[in-house]
Amino acid sequence: MPEGAFLYCDVSVPAPLDQAFTYALPETLRHRARPGCRVLVPFGPRKLTGVILSCHDQAPAVAAREVLRLIDSEPVLDAELLALGRWIAGYYCAPLGEVLRTMLPLAADVRRGKIWALTDSGRDAARQLLLDAAPDDPAAAILRMLEKRPLSAAYLAKALPLADKAVRSLERRGFIFAEQVAVERDPLRASSEHLRVELAAADSGLRLNKPERELHAFLELHPGSHNLKDLESTVKNASPAARSLARKGMVSLYPEKVGAGAGPVRVPHTLNTAQSVAFEQIRGAIQTREFHAFLLYGVTGSGKTEVYLNAIEATLAEGRSALLLVPEIALTPAMAGQFFSRFGDRVAILHSAFGDVERSEQWRRIRSGAAPVVVGTRSGVFAPVHGLGLIVVDEEHDGSYKQEETPRYNGRDVAVVRAQAAGACVILGSATPSLESRYNVERGKYTLLELPGRIEERPMPTVELIDMRQEFLETRKQSTFSRRLLEAIGQRLENGEQTIVLLNRRGFSSFVACRSCGDRVQCVNCSVTLTFHKRDRRLLCHYCGYAEKVPSACPKCASEHIYFVGLGSERVEEELHQAFPTARIARLDRDTVTGKRQYETILQGFREGAFDILVGTQMIAKGHDIPNVTLVGVVSADVGLGMPDFRAAERTFQLLTQVAGRAGRGSVPGIVLTQTINPDHYAVRLAAAQDYAAFYQKELGFRRMMSYPPFSAMANILVRGEKKEVAMRMSADLGLMLTPPPEKLRIMGPAEAPVPRLKAEYRYQFLIKAASRKTLNDTLQRVRRFALERKWPATALVIDVDPLTLM
Ligand code: ADP
Ligand code: ZN
Ligand code: ZN
Repeated sequence: MPEGAFLYCDVSVPAPLDQAFTYALPETLRHRARPGCRVLVPFGPRKLTGVILSCHDQAPAVAAREVLRLIDSEPVLDAELLALGRWIAGYYCAPLGEVLRTMLPLAADVRRGKIWALTDSGRDAARQLLLDAAPDDPAAAILRMLEKRPLSAAYLAKALPLADKAVRSLERRGFIFAEQVAVERDPLRASSEHLRVELAAADSGLRLNKPERELHAFLELHPGSHNLKDLESTVKNASPAARSLARKGMVSLYPEKVGAGAGPVRVPHTLNTAQSVAFEQIRGAIQTREFHAFLLYGVTGSGKTEVYLNAIEATLAEGRSALLLVPEIALTPAMAGQFFSRFGDRVAILHSAFGDVERSEQWRRIRSGAAPVVVGTRSGVFAPVHGLGLIVVDEEHDGSYKQEETPRYNGRDVAVVRAQAAGACVILGSATPSLESRYNVERGKYTLLELPGRIEERPMPTVELIDMRQEFLETRKQSTFSRRLLEAIGQRLENGEQTIVLLNRRGFSSFVACRSCGDRVQCVNCSVTLTFHKRDRRLLCHYCGYAEKVPSACPKCASEHIYFVGLGSERVEEELHQAFPTARIARLDRDTVTGKRQYETILQGFREGAFDILVGTQMIAKGHDIPNVTLVGVVSADVGLGMPDFRAAERTFQLLTQVAGRAGRGSVPGIVLTQTINPDHYAVRLAAAQDYAAFYQKELGFRRMMSYPPFSAMANILVRGEKKEVAMRMSADLGLMLTPPPEKLRIMGPAEAPVPRLKAEYRYQFLIKAASRKTLNDTLQRVRRFALERKWPATALVIDVDPLTLM
């Protein structure tokens, strides 16, 4: 990085625009501003936090405005990550500013952190107003409050009903200004016993006071992290000194619980033959220090994690860092515990459920090099590790790696690109690899590694299909549970073994319908039926959260013959209670679980045997290792198959295989009972046979025939608007622009989206399949320019490259 003083910098701001803007650097910042640092800049009437892309001396044609503040003294995005951001912006057709915002550790804060403070004239005005304003004047009240300290917009809005208007007027008059900065909530507020402290930077020549100097010296001599409270008995005034050093970036302070749970160091398992064969190949590749991609295909319970742990160790032995990505739902304390016990406080955890303090502190430990092992969910792929040597993507097929808002990147694919640029290895692991990844083996892009059997030769579970059409013929009853499944659950209860019951749907019943006119009660904002939730007797929209009371008459024809159709997890739980009154039943879905901790509590309770039966949605299908589960019941294998989506079969196969993998992880073999009305569907049949190879071949044939991925590059374009005519006209215009389509590119649409109205917006879509990436990208860039030229509202156009869902 060339040091030096520059007059200008180009800044990317978080706005849906492609170009960077040139700002002048004030005298004081000229030698400190560097690419990758965040700055506060004026942007129209607002102030935004942007990222410096480059510094230079070329004066722009129009006089440049000045940078207001430099937020970071060290770049938060290094050259490698900036380049990755550019790649994402290009590949996913997303504005660079929004990509960079996603990559930053405190993305959420940058967006919402608006802190109001008094200007100098505001300070004068405050004194003036205090004397002569009416006591209920909101503007006076705001000035009075801000005179004590700067306050967030959210706080003001809560404190004063009319704050919004008054704030705007005060801002216009120049009395107050907003700092739209990353308000990193003060990590230093926690009490000392809950904080650990650790050296972050060597002496930087800053003037330190005596306690600061002493603490710094102590930490230099005693590397590692220390509980702050404990330190106070050794170093005088350690607590205030640590806090002020942290503000100067010289020490890291982070919550005690992050490093806790380290416990005794776990003795690693001796790898079995298949594990060693896989690991030796990986180690060889790591030692070459060149890019290499592996697909680790290992059946459920084959010990993939142990291979990851060894690969990470081999990476550390090379003096490089490792990154492990796991699906959103899989990153539990139990999972993190495995890493702590193997790598101690060299591990950093990045979790979206963490508070700002925890997150930014983890991030700092990674950047300082204190934590060369990082475990994180999707956005963990942007962790600022030094000397990246390995990225592991566990359950690489999982849908949570895809971000469903701009930028719509897939963390797995970004991981491969990042590893490639860094000359690192990447391991994609799964028991049900995605078609795309498996096909990349055939193309010679990935090396296939296989763990074909379970650890200690434990048998794979037996899967039985129960044909619910037959059950109906025999019992003449439309029941939730077949006799076979009920009997099997009863047996488990007698034996003191545990059961998992999977249902792919929340709520009590799916929906409320009218017998007279056949109408289903729909959401007012979305064209989807509302779901009945019994516990609070409400109808709920699962897309936008809209809720209403259960009507006593049909909203359409006023008939009173309303009835409930379908089946949800709440109802399944209730029926189980009726069948087994003494059984202890827990339910895990998005209704019972609002916070991550709650999820873990229920799961932990189940693991410890506090419950006999766990009922849940696909949340429970992911990699939990609970040895006492000997039965998995799938209430209906059919739910996902009806979706208008070319991935429906793949998703069903993955879900059924993964949930089956939860059975028989201990010494007692497990069985899986899958109820279905499509026993002959290949996804159901092959999942029951646990035959991934056959499923892959069959599905690949279908994709090839239809030119679906991986045989084409695909994108989904959504055009939306609050007014139906507007949305329709925009999509028709776009359709015209795309006629005739470029060569080797197929466009389906414009058509109503599968959910034509969502969150009060009308939606039309185009599906694009292209023979080459380049053709697809060129076309999408043309589409973006078209929307810009036509001055479409920023939210009207959504481009989803490599879409996972077509809703
Ligand atoms: P997967 O992720 O492939 O489904 P896991 O990594 O969860 O499987 O491993 C399943 C179980 O086997 C875990 O309890 C793990 O601790 C254990 N295990 C893994 N490797 C070995 C080994 N070499 N010897 C004994 N136990 C092992
Ligand atoms: Zn009706
Ligand atoms: Zn809705």
